[in-house]
Amino acid sequence: MRYISTRGRAPERDFNEVLLAGLAEDGGLYVPRNWPELSAAEWRALRGLPYAELAARLVHLFTGEAIGFETLRTLCQEAYAGFRHPAVAPLWQAESGLWVQELFHGPTLAFKDLAMQLLGRLFEHTLAARDAHITIVAATSGDTGSAAIEACRGRTRISLAVLHPDGRTSAVQRRQMTTVDAPNIANIAVDGTFDDCQDLVKAMFADTPFRAEMRLSAVNSINWARIAAQIPYYAASALALGAPDRPVAFSVPTGNFGNVLAGWAARRMGLPIARLVVASNRNDILARFLAANDMSARPVEPSLSPSMDIQISSNFERLLFELLDRDADATATIMADFRAGGRMAVPDAAWQRARALLQGFRLDDTATLAEIRRLALGSNYLADPHSAIGIAAARAHPLPGVPMIALATAHPAKFPEAMQAATGAIPPLPSALFDLYERVEHFTRARPDLGEIEAEIRALVHRNVA
Ligand SMILES: *Cc1c(COP(=O)(O)O)cnc(C)c1O
Repeated sequence: MRYISTRGRAPERDFNEVLLAGLAEDGGLYVPRNWPELSAAEWRALRGLPYAELAARLVHLFTGEAIGFETLRTLCQEAYAGFRHPAVAPLWQAESGLWVQELFHGPTLAFKDLAMQLLGRLFEHTLAARDAHITIVAATSGDTGSAAIEACRGRTRISLAVLHPDGRTSAVQRRQMTTVDAPNIANIAVDGTFDDCQDLVKAMFADTPFRAEMRLSAVNSINWARIAAQIPYYAASALALGAPDRPVAFSVPTGNFGNVLAGWAARRMGLPIARLVVASNRNDILARFLAANDMSARPVEPSLSPSMDIQISSNFERLLFELLDRDADATATIMADFRAGGRMAVPDAAWQRARALLQGFRLDDTATLAEIRRLALGSNYLADPHSAIGIAAARAHPLPGVPMIALATAHPAKFPEAMQAATGAIPPLPSALFDLYERVEHFTRARPDLGEIEAEIRALVHRNVA
């Protein structure tokens, strides 16, 4: 399996090279040169497999010869063994025709664990084969950082530095990152915003000598391996509800568009997905795009669903490339104009194609709290703010006769303030985290200064490699 860049000017690579590279050199994102496709009979043959086995079979279509199937199967078994539910990504029926797929049973209580637990192991495997070491730097507003730390802790070939904005993540989110005590992890609390953290990470990647010296790599959802690892849960629920012999639909709480893109990929591989509802909070650029082809960035506004507080959804570029019939030059031009002017000029034909499958949806904080309360009172079900938006979106845009699956992306205990405001009670943390508030925190504080933070990362790497 070979990978090409959406902007057409980076070398073709295999899976392991794409895993280590993250972003392509031309600024584009890697996508498979040819999409694997399964026949209806091949999909049927995957029904009823344990989750790790299903994941191994599907992800192997994307690794190709870069990773042997037996190895990948072992990595998948290890990745999903630590989940708190035997089904890994179980379905709960909310009402007639509407299911909720819970993606929050991993170690850090958000859906990012499904990809990150496998990614950490893929990195370790690939680095061991090359006898190499990498440094991962990540900026986080909460969930990505803890999922990455949990996936990389104690791995000697990986040093991981996570930058979070000091005082701007929830206490649960911060403690999930800072209470991990491992020599290869550095938590840096930056005196600034999430955007400052992200700018610092970009500046480190642009600092070519530092990038080469540290062998920098990325684990955000621009990394293709994360998308590949998210396809199996779409397949698991679709197959359970009758696919490929009847269509299904999904509703997806969306930020960087990585989750929805995995759904799009599952459909491209032949799974009959009739609709993908793209659910947003008040940061509704994607809803505006789908309603009126208005893809214009506005300032990010904080909300009760912070993992969706994003204006520029980086994975949208992969969909755009497909909507433009894989015209890399057109993709590069549109993306460059978007960077420069804050507005993405999507050709009308491409927009129409997007609308034929994707349905936008937006919910503000007041309505989100009302939806959490409705689910708690009516169904005795606790949905976190992100998941509640997805469930509301699913109810707003059903397709007659088509099972609708709303993805639940975080555990309610991760957002205690919002849950208390909506229901009057704080959901308990799962037992593995019961003493989270008593654990010792490990982090350093830094000004948003590139030199200072690079020095800190260099010290981490020297400690870890020595
Ligand atoms: C990351 C995240 C999202 C957004 O997912 P994308 O792939 O960035 O669209 C939604 N909900 C939760 C809880 C998340 O952690």
